[in-house]
Amino acid sequence: MEVSFSREARMLRRGAGETFHGEGILAITKALLQAGVSYVGGYQGAPVSHLLDVLVQSREYLNELGVHVEACSNEASAAAMLGASIHYPLRGAVTWKSIVGTNVAADALSNLASPGVTGGALIIIGEDYGEGASVVQERTVAYALKSSLVLLDPRPELAHMVRMVEEAFLLSEAASTPAMLQLRIRACHVRGSFACKDNVAPAFSRHHVLPQPAVFDFDRIPHPPATYRHEKRKYGERMPAARRFVVEHKLNEVFAGPRDDLGIIVLGGLYNSLIRALQQFGLADAFGASQVPILALNIVCPLVPEEIGDFCAGKRAVLVVEEGQPEFVEQEILAILRRQDVAARIHGKNMLPMAGEYTIEVIGRGIADFIAREAPDLPAEAGRTWLGETDARRKAVTAALDAPLPARPPQFCTGCPERPVFAALKLAQQDIGPVHVAGDIGCHSFATFEPFSIGHTILGYGMGLASRAGVSPAMGSRTLAVMGDGGFWHNGLLTGVQSALFNAGDAVLVILKNGYTSATGTQEIISSPDSAQATGSQDAGASRVHQSKVIETTLAGIGVKWLRTVDSYDVKAMRRAFDDAFTTDFPGLKIIIAEGECQLERQRRVKPWRAGLLKAGKRVVRVKYGVDEDTCSGDHSCIRLSGCPTLTLKASPDSLKVDPIATVIDGCVGCGLCGENAHAAALCPSFYRGEVIRNPHWRDRLPAAIRRAFIGLLQPA
Ligand code: SF4
Ligand code: SF4
Repeated sequence: MEVSFSREARMLRRGAGETFHGEGILAITKALLQAGVSYVGGYQGAPVSHLLDVLVQSREYLNELGVHVEACSNEASAAAMLGASIHYPLRGAVTWKSIVGTNVAADALSNLASPGVTGGALIIIGEDYGEGASVVQERTVAYALKSSLVLLDPRPELAHMVRMVEEAFLLSEAASTPAMLQLRIRACHVRGSFACKDNVAPAFSRHHVLPQPAVFDFDRIPHPPATYRHEKRKYGERMPAARRFVVEHKLNEVFAGPRDDLGIIVLGGLYNSLIRALQQFGLADAFGASQVPILALNIVCPLVPEEIGDFCAGKRAVLVVEEGQPEFVEQEILAILRRQDVAARIHGKNMLPMAGEYTIEVIGRGIADFIAREAPDLPAEAGRTWLGETDARRKAVTAALDAPLPARPPQFCTGCPERPVFAALKLAQQDIGPVHVAGDIGCHSFATFEPFSIGHTILGYGMGLASRAGVSPAMGSRTLAVMGDGGFWHNGLLTGVQSALFNAGDAVLVILKNGYTSATGTQEIISSPDSAQATGSQDAGASRVHQSKVIETTLAGIGVKWLRTVDSYDVKAMRRAFDDAFTTDFPGLKIIIAEGECQLERQRRVKPWRAGLLKAGKRVVRVKYGVDEDTCSGDHSCIRLSGCPTLTLKASPDSLKVDPIATVIDGCVGCGLCGENAHAAALCPSFYRGEVIRNPHWRDRLPAAIRRAFIGLLQPA
């Protein structure tokens, strides 16, 4: 059971005369349908997961329209899907998170960009750069430049973003070039409204099929000598055509302002933050009208030299607001102006930081510097006061705390089945000694944070096993690779398992089989549990049951001989499995499958089920763990082995105990790990398991009454 997007799906059906209200990413989804897209694919990943999730759950409506939707196994397969637009007048769109997804898709992207396209091909990129990012800090613009792709970076306003999607298809067709449209986190979640248009059924689809395959054309194949012609066409025909289109359709926007001697060139996606920063200085009004003229680049690649030259001509100084490094756009602007002999002084990375997200405050500091250097007559007092107050607030908070705020890294959800695996691994290392752990992308990468601090490297999604191949031969002991089931299907089966088998690698792999691609929003995968089977016990720890065996069958099928499936929550059994894998004489690949359903998914399913039982007056049991405050010694070893957010500290009621004691707060979902750890690590006997029974039967009431009476007898009068 995935998150339901039924409300969003209804929004997609709106037509002319109706208004759309909502988030940027959903507006983009609607824009695809208004643009007559024929097929959509992709691989989920924040901040663009919603696009595919909503479309996958709208299959019935899309079938009516004739739009094909494919949940691709990775970004490479999504990019390859765009191959449909090479020969045929089919508009296609795919989506993924960048930069990581673009890295995975790079091969297909190059081979798509080389011959070019007939139907518009659009890649919606979730540009995961900056404060909320979860991936390496690089930018997609490098790919657009090297492959000669069009890159759009629309100003975050819903009607404008929708227009840009429609223009992107036209531009892609006019220039025979695939286009990328990048959306930063803030643009995906910006809210607003726009006047809808009717959705357009694609000209060719399963309802109106193509009459016949295209005639063979070697020029559409990325092989020499065609590739030499492709390269010439890229700079000789396609990029000039793209530039012409950008000018004719006025895709970049100039916002005039009275201070003609100055200017700001901003990447479209950063426009809102720039305006907010200018407002702090009193240099823009409440409606966004700026005193300094602004050129908003909705099209980052290719730049149009005439537009840049016209904007900068006659100005004393221009500030380029481009997030991240290297400063590709700024460098290109400098080269363009030098060739045109335009004398405006160009500022950018000399006033704004080279790396990191350009928040309003960061841009504000750059503006303050720009004004001080180039226009001291501008009223900057309000902005300087605002920045000074921000600094003072920060200083006051730090002083009041007597130390910087503690870091609050993300971590496993309460009751997550992956936490016990790392608790077991910590214990197993007491037996087998420290091991090199090749980590991977997924929820399990939270193990790199305290209290586990496990994982030496992360080389990419599904790359855990492959990334230990160079370490294993040089290491005196076996290495451990970690992989989730999402990563296994994305990439790990081929790059890791197949390669280790082929090369007779002596390594240990643990696959965390939680049933979903959880870290990207719990999308289903080929080995997801059948939700019809998956109600089971009300006990949260019972999430170990009824998982599909597709992974086991696949591994056995390609020749894995040492394979164990272990209940994730059984810490003792998991510790034993690690011990066995690291000490067995078996020389090949050893795989432990840690089986336990993602607790987030399980709670999504169990909560309404429980609510239904309660409403019907039926017996409902909630398991909860607790700590006996008299027995807890306050050594906190349970916390060091768990890290569960609901296992925390409180002051000891015993004045003789100085240290705070452990306590379990209300969020406990009763996964059982506390009890498991206490047994497996022989901790103090402080933990107890309780059952909160609602609508109890007489079979519950009678023993409870007897217990109460007996305890009453033992109490002093
Ligand atoms: S989403 Fe699922 S797998 Fe990920 S941390 Fe939460 S419970 Fe664990
Ligand atoms: S407090 Fe213990 S039993 Fe409760 S959810 Fe956390 S780890 Fe599981």
